[in-house]
Amino acid sequence: MNITIIGSGYVGLVSGACFSEFGFNVTCVDKDEEKIKNLKKAIIPIFEPNLEDLVKKNIASNRLTFTTDLASSFYDSVAIFIAVGTPTNIKNNSTDLSYVYGVVKEIADLIKVNDKNTKLIVTKSTVPVGTSKDIIKYISKYKPELKLYEHYDVASNPEFLREGSAIEDFMRPDRVICGAESEFAENILQKLYRPLNLRETLILFTGRETAELIKYASNGFLATKISFINEMSDICEKVGADVQKVAKGIGLDRRIGSKFLHPGPGFGGSCFPKDTRALAEIGKKYDVRTKIIESVIEVNDNRKLNMVVKIKNAIGGLENKIISILGLTFKPNTDDMRESPSLVIVSELKKIVAKIKVYDPAGMGNAKKLKEFDGVEWCNNAYDCISNANAMVVITEWNEFRALDLTKVKKLLQTPIIIDLRNVYNKQDMDEAKIEYISVGRSE
Ligand code: NAD
Repeated sequence: MNITIIGSGYVGLVSGACFSEFGFNVTCVDKDEEKIKNLKKAIIPIFEPNLEDLVKKNIASNRLTFTTDLASSFYDSVAIFIAVGTPTNIKNNSTDLSYVYGVVKEIADLIKVNDKNTKLIVTKSTVPVGTSKDIIKYISKYKPELKLYEHYDVASNPEFLREGSAIEDFMRPDRVICGAESEFAENILQKLYRPLNLRETLILFTGRETAELIKYASNGFLATKISFINEMSDICEKVGADVQKVAKGIGLDRRIGSKFLHPGPGFGGSCFPKDTRALAEIGKKYDVRTKIIESVIEVNDNRKLNMVVKIKNAIGGLENKIISILGLTFKPNTDDMRESPSLVIVSELKKIVAKIKVYDPAGMGNAKKLKEFDGVEWCNNAYDCISNANAMVVITEWNEFRALDLTKVKKLLQTPIIIDLRNVYNKQDMDEAKIEYISVGRSE
């Protein structure tokens, strides 16, 4: 079976590599010529563990190809996946669907009325509820001679992979959600995900709108857990409780579960911030007040600013101080800088301190392109970054920051203060190293 995936970013590239590993012939399309030129040579544009090997292997087996020319693979493909970006439209917080509709138009242009093969258009991008239906409306207006179910069909197959463990998540998902409204669409999606049957993955078939909402409801719920534990950590600091133990204590209740209860500087990344905003906008559009999601967004926005206050309080007067920042990406094992808490924290600190030194194992290439980091000193490793600073701040919990030599850290710092926004260290080790230690939600 041949399939085409349009958009070769985090989702499109990982999905393409994994579907080809399942044995399908996959063509990944992108309009970025440089990206495609590199991908043809297995040069991967993103940092994602094990992706390079998977891409190399499947290029070699001729099951995975890359092109900028959609027409070249279109007619041989039974399914065309849309995996382009759906960022927030900053003017009104709605979802910018211009990339999606750009692709839909290209697809409609290519479908031939006399072609006997129905094309299945699958939205893998996260799109607002109702988008699949709107795509059908768009095509029937733009090219009325094309008939739904005869020339094309539309299904929703939202993606749940996490950056940093994307291949594992795609290959061993908790579930696959398919919004399909014809036997034709259901059959194709069944075939494509059949390799997961061996692992007894649940493939849940629903209507298109239900599938679209499941994606937002999942991300909304996970973001709620994060904002909730962050609020609990603030209470812990005031009352002398330990948020790690609170998280463990509530997480042992199977109705709650232990995942996504890690306090920190707030959620970021390419999905949670934009998807929570989109969910609130979907509520507004349909006249449903989404107070919980609105609060989650507000708590998270404030959280990042509160981390700046926390740093200020820990260090005192900041005017002449040098601050060392370890970790810039929104989480470890990715180079994705989109909406990372570090953007807010660094740009706020920059207004007050004398110098900011930064280091991230994978994110500095992308961070260097962002104005929030103009004027910072880029360092080659963690110790270089800590050297001569008045405080070390951990923003991202990369493994290489978890076991720094604290004796060396103390010697390198001008004043021995560590502000650990991810709770990777413990107070006892810091006391032994004679380092002043501030963490999140742990007063002891
Ligand atoms: P991305 O920005 O990494 O990649 C999008 C790609 O689409 C880019 O390479 C861009 O050049 C390409 N593109 C745009 N218009 C095109 C066109 N007309 N033709 C061909 N290529 C085109 O985005 P991403 O992070 O992979 O996200 C894609 C979608 O998946 C979004 O809706 C996102 O919300 C969703 N999603 C992302 C993740 C994640 O972890 N990144 C997880 C689940 C779902």
